[in-house]
Amino acid sequence: MYKISKSGWIEIIVGPMYCGKSEELIRRLRRVRIARHEARVFKPALDDRYDRSSIVSHNGDRIEALAVDHPEEILNRVEEETEVVGIDEAQFFHPRIVEAAEELADRGKRVILAGLDRDFRGEPFGPVPELMARAEYIEKLHAICVVCGEPATRTQRLIDGEPASYEDPVIMVGAEEVYEARCRHCHEVKK
Ligand code: ADP
Ligand code: ZN
Repeated sequence: MYKISKSGWIEIIVGPMYCGKSEELIRRLRRVRIARHEARVFKPALDDRYDRSSIVSHNGDRIEALAVDHPEEILNRVEEETEVVGIDEAQFFHPRIVEAAEELADRGKRVILAGLDRDFRGEPFGPVPELMARAEYIEKLHAICVVCGEPATRTQRLIDGEPASYEDPVIMVGAEEVYEARCRHCHEVKK
């Protein structure tokens, strides 16, 4: 088989919560639509933050997306004529998202991902670091630290008003949980 002459690539948008990843992904996908290029947009099914069938940014922008459980489903749902593949909340996907993104780019697609680069502890988050290493383009966005107003690179997790600790489970039953954007200096993890 001949190699498709058009070459694809991977773009990834990263940063903490509230830095504008979804906004930026939606902006790029809107421009894709204006150019009348064929796009497919996906998000992990477990993220039902706002809407199961849309990506919704914190300022209310939205774009339709298909909620999928596994990266395989993305590969199955991308067609020959699909030119652009958008993927939000990349950190929540199975590690095979890395292979899926590479395969799509090899097939000539423009793959645009968005995701958290760090978890609430400040550690690299799931498959995102590897996706960053393999991407042709990276955009690292900053939020605003809600404590001091400096650029925020981290996501603070608060449980009943207290900084979460390293060992806290991802899901805390019956606790009031809040996430906010903070800078390196103001970010706290209980030891
Ligand atoms: P992300 O996908 O990175 O979580 P969104 O694109 O959903 O971010 O939301 C970005 C928007 O969130 C900003 O344009 C702004 O209106 C709002 N926002 C709320 N809190 C903050 C904050 N601390 N820093 C920056 N933007 C914030
Ligand atoms: Zn700060």
